[in-house]
Amino acid sequence: MNSLIIPEPKLTLIPIKDSSQQFPVRRIYCIGRNYADHAIEMGFDPNKEDPFFFQKNTDNIDISGNFPYPPQTSDVHHEIELVVALKSGGSNISLSESYKHVLGFGVGLDMTRRDLQGQAKKTGRPWEIGKAFEHSAPMGELNLIEKSGTMESGSIVLKVNGAIKQQGDLNMMIWKIPEMISHLSKYYTLQAGDLIMTGTPAGVGPVQKGDYLEGSISKLSNLAVKVV
Ligand code: MN
Repeated sequence: MNSLIIPEPKLTLIPIKDSSQQFPVRRIYCIGRNYADHAIEMGFDPNKEDPFFFQKNTDNIDISGNFPYPPQTSDVHHEIELVVALKSGGSNISLSESYKHVLGFGVGLDMTRRDLQGQAKKTGRPWEIGKAFEHSAPMGELNLIEKSGTMESGSIVLKVNGAIKQQGDLNMMIWKIPEMISHLSKYYTLQAGDLIMTGTPAGVGPVQKGDYLEGSISKLSNLAVKVV
């Protein structure tokens, strides 16, 4: 057997509520502008767009409860999002088969270097520099679908230092969970371990060192993150 020339990269693992088992992460797909009120606040018409996705790196996930303020930015925004975890996948998954691939759900943050994302948008460049940096995906434990249900509605809230900053309902998502799974599976072969971050409601805004973020989605474990 051949040995590795460098140490093996660490597997990214997410805990599961009331379980000793963990979820190994393969890929992270993130949808853009999936709540009409957020699309409007970012200056877009929510009625005119097909769904579009970008990716974060698997090792951008941080379950520590700390978010280190990242380099090369002075405008880091919070985006609270429902996270869908897949236990299986495939290509060309139909709408009616989509939920069969879902293991469960969690609360996540799509932390964004908005200034760098803004420059990328203006120059027609990729978003990765604004979206896919170390610690950019703080995440809470996963809740199995058997306990949570299909999560087609329910409140989604983000508080910063105790004050509500983002508030919406999952039923406001423009592209629903089966639609996202089906759409992605036309372009990629989805697999067990894939995560989908399903977009954020209105109210995104900057964080500062020392801020305390509390994300909650009804029926799911809360996420608490300190900006350090
Ligand atoms: Mn987002």
